This record gives sequence, C-alpha cells and structure tokens, in this order.
Amino acid sequence: MNDAPIRVLLVEDEEHLAAGLKLNFELEGYAVDVASTGREAGRLLLADRAYDAILLDVMLPDVDGFSLCQKLRDSGNTTPVLMLTARGDLEDRIEGLNAGADDYLAKPFDLEELLARVRSLLRRRDWGRKHEAQRTSPGILHLGDALIDFDTHAVTVRGEAVHLTKLELDLLRYFADNPGRVLGREELQQEVWKLQDYPSHRMVDNFIMRLRRHFEPDPRNPVVFLSVRGAGYKFVPPQQPGPQV
Ligand code: CA
Repeated sequence: MNDAPIRVLLVEDEEHLAAGLKLNFELEGYAVDVASTGREAGRLLLADRAYDAILLDVMLPDVDGFSLCQKLRDSGNTTPVLMLTARGDLEDRIEGLNAGADDYLAKPFDLEELLARVRSLLRRRDWGRKHEAQRTSPGILHLGDALIDFDTHAVTVRGEAVHLTKLELDLLRYFADNPGRVLGREELQQEVWKLQDYPSHRMVDNFIMRLRRHFEPDPRNPVVFLSVRGAGYKFVPPQQPGPQV
C-alpha cells in the first residue's frame, strides 16, 4: 500500500455540493482541494500539478469546464478529468470528450457512481503505469520514438509516460489497423465514436491535432497523420530502424 493519499481537485461552484463531495471523498481516504472558480482551479494547478484526478464542473461562474479542460490538455497536463454537468445530452458529452476529458457524469448523480468512476479512472492510470515496462505483447505500436500499448493503455514518448484518453487510443488503434488507407471523417466518427450521420466533423479534426501533438516530430508539418484534402486522413507509420547487419 502506498501511504500518500490520492489527491483530487474538485472544481465546483455549488457550495453545498462541493462540501458534501469533499467530505465523502475524504471519508474514502482521498485528499481533496476545492476550487469554486476556474481561476482558482488554475492557480491550484499551476502551484501543484500532482493531482491524481480532477472533478470538473462544466458550469462555473468565470469559465466553462470544457475550455478549462482544453487549456489543461494544451498545457500538457494529463491528469485524468471527470466532467460534472447539469446537462446530460450527447452534444455535451462529445464536447467534454473533445476537450480531453476522460469521463463524464450528469447531475444529479449518485455518489456511489461518482466514487466508482473515479476509482476506475485511477485504476486505468495505475494499470498503465505498472505495465509501462512490459513491451512484448502484440498489442504494441511503435511510432517513431513512441510506444503505445493498447492492452494496458500505457503510452510513452521518448521514455516519458503520456496519458491518452480512451477515445484517443481508439482512434490511434483504428489508424494503426488501417495504415496507408485514406480514412474519411464520417468513417472515423462511425468506427471510433460510434456516431452515425453526426453533422460536425470538428471533433475528428481536434483529435487528430492532439495525436499530432503527441506523436509527430513537428506537429505543424505532419508526416504520420496526413491530411488528405477533401477526403480525410491517412496514417503513414514511420519507418522502424531495421536490425543492424
Ligand atoms: Ca456549477
């Protein structure tokens, strides 16, 4: 057992809800910091990135949780994020996942379900960390100097652990299964997001941008995740260095 408590940042402006959640998480042995605005959350995150999970309300007084999550990911922070929102519709779920959230729970939620989801986020992260070193399974993708283990979700780039969300991994896997083939945005939405006839393709583009940021030597001049004008994207796996003879 690890003695250090699991640290959770709760970003929630409804005082009663925040106090109740904090208490319940503390009873479960977590250490909880509460921020009631996006600005406060930003301050805490800047001061200390060592949170194990972030619970993020969507409707905050100063910013919305989506853009806060996006900013977090843009800054390279990979802490698992669970979004909490009053609205539970598909658009919102997609926006949350687009912004780099790992999971999503609509209010009002059941406390036990929230605790279970947080435990599951942490398990996934721990599982990834524990299995980082095991690189013999066939579910492994070598991408230049990156290693992606689809079985354990462990991802390293130049030896550094990188956190990918489940959807990012699903998308990457779909590319890896279809090297050199032009994949349309509709196809990707259908196969990866399981969305039929969804009107906007922006989420696909956003996710490609994120994969490029992780895995392209120069994300502005992609050579792995190529755009094919008017058609979609093409995955071109980098050459693996051959055995020295
Ligand atoms: Ca709120």
